[in-house]
Amino acid sequence: MLKLNTLFFCCALFAHGMVAAQTATPAENLEQQIQALLDMGDKLVIETRYEAATQTLNNAYNLLGTANNSALARNVLNSLANLYYSTGELALAERYYRELLSYDESSGDTLALSVTLYNLGHVAASQQRFSEADDLFNQALRLNTELNDVSGRAYTLKALGVNAHATGDLVQAKSLLLKSAEAFLSVGDEVQHAAALRNLADVELESGLPQTAVNYYLEALPVLAQSGFNAALLRCYRGLSLAFEQLSQFDKALIAQRAYSDLMQTGLQQQNLDTTLRIREELDIRRYVDANATLERNRQQQQQALAESRSLVRLQFLVLMLAAALVLLVYTMFRRSEQAAIHMQKLATTDELTRLHNRRAIMEKGKNEWQRAVRYRTPLSCLVFDLDHFKSINDTYGHGKGDEVLRAMGHQLIATLRQSDCVGRIGGEEFLLFAPETDASQAEILAEKIRKGIANYRIPGMESRKITISIGIATLLDETSLEQLIQHADEALYQVKNNGRNRSIIYRKQLPGFTPGPALQAIMQRA
Ligand code: GH3
Ligand code: MG
Ligand code: MG
Repeated sequence: MLKLNTLFFCCALFAHGMVAAQTATPAENLEQQIQALLDMGDKLVIETRYEAATQTLNNAYNLLGTANNSALARNVLNSLANLYYSTGELALAERYYRELLSYDESSGDTLALSVTLYNLGHVAASQQRFSEADDLFNQALRLNTELNDVSGRAYTLKALGVNAHATGDLVQAKSLLLKSAEAFLSVGDEVQHAAALRNLADVELESGLPQTAVNYYLEALPVLAQSGFNAALLRCYRGLSLAFEQLSQFDKALIAQRAYSDLMQTGLQQQNLDTTLRIREELDIRRYVDANATLERNRQQQQQALAESRSLVRLQFLVLMLAAALVLLVYTMFRRSEQAAIHMQKLATTDELTRLHNRRAIMEKGKNEWQRAVRYRTPLSCLVFDLDHFKSINDTYGHGKGDEVLRAMGHQLIATLRQSDCVGRIGGEEFLLFAPETDASQAEILAEKIRKGIANYRIPGMESRKITISIGIATLLDETSLEQLIQHADEALYQVKNNGRNRSIIYRKQLPGFTPGPALQAIMQRA
């Protein structure tokens, strides 16, 4: 469980790094990464997971080259060297302690320097380079004294004592270990005090003073047993057993030896258990990592699917918009062409000058009205009218003014007539009108209304000139065709022109001496 916690801790560290990375500068970001690796490495060392710790701390070390933070570099080097010392890779430990030493010497941090010297001393001693170790420990001791670091001094004295013991200088060893034990006691470190006594006992035993040794062992034993400092406790039992043996107290020697064996066995069992636990936890971590990787893969796949579906929706939306735009375009074009068709239709059926029906359109209307009147036997009147002396208007006021008179005619007719009346221009200044549901008397009234309306109309610039028209009327009686009806209206018009103009006359049958007038001839020719 401890290791699972480590993993969560690492993830948290990583997440923390990620969050910090968003606000930190690249250099700060790098330092945070190194610090995270260092913390993780130290934790792995505590958990005795040396392989992982080595990898982690080496990663931190490799990143140091790019960072410029000596405090951080010092911590990484120290952790790495301590790790190699723990795993017995002494050459590597020495290499990193030496690198550390150069930092400490240049930084002027005496406390750090004393610790590094002390550690280097241990490396040298472990490699049997005792005099070198002695020299290093003595350098450390000077600094401890300088700093009045009693605890540090106690450790160094112990190391010097152990060193002296190793070189066979038992007197020196005793003196140093006694001083160390006293120093530990003065700072209240009972466990280290007991450990120093245990070392001292070993020396006494070797000096041939087994009783003194027993005394020291027995003083150290309860403290070591209480503290769980098993390595020292084991040596204590072992030494005690040997000392009792030398004192010929074999029963006690046996008890001590048994205690030693039991503790050894418990230690081995514990080690076994630890290993089993560690393997199981490694397996759990592996499973957890695998599960996490699968989850991450799934998440990525989902994200990809989501991104794809989003882009599909965007594409669909785009296609939809394009389709809508296309529909709008087609609709607009359709509307335009419809309007153009209406416009063209209007152009094709309208007289440009007067805005009335043109000749073709009025004849078409006439046909419709004729058919309706014949079918339903309803009245239908036809009026043909012609401007009087129009040629002289053109001659006097110019062709433009003549056009203006024609436009005014159109305007006037549209204003005067009913919706059902159809009127059109059939020639230069000749007009044709069909009035459905209109009998002869009503047609006469209509003709007079038109005539008087025109007569009262004044064209700007030619106010003195009265515009008059002559109107011929024919109301459907027994005519056999539309043309005949128009012809009869034209005959009436001819009669008006021959009788002084500016009047309307209704066609009467059997007019004596009739010959078709020019208006009728024009219509008949064009028809
Ligand atoms: P009447 O009283 O006998 O009808 O005499 P009139 O002068 O009106 O007769 P006529 O048919 O001889 O003359 C018609 C004139 O109308 C001839 C031509 O110059 C003129 N006219 C025809 N079409 C147009 C037109 O579109 N614009 C103009 N300004 N004049 C036109
Ligand atoms: Mg005329
Ligand atoms: Mg005419």
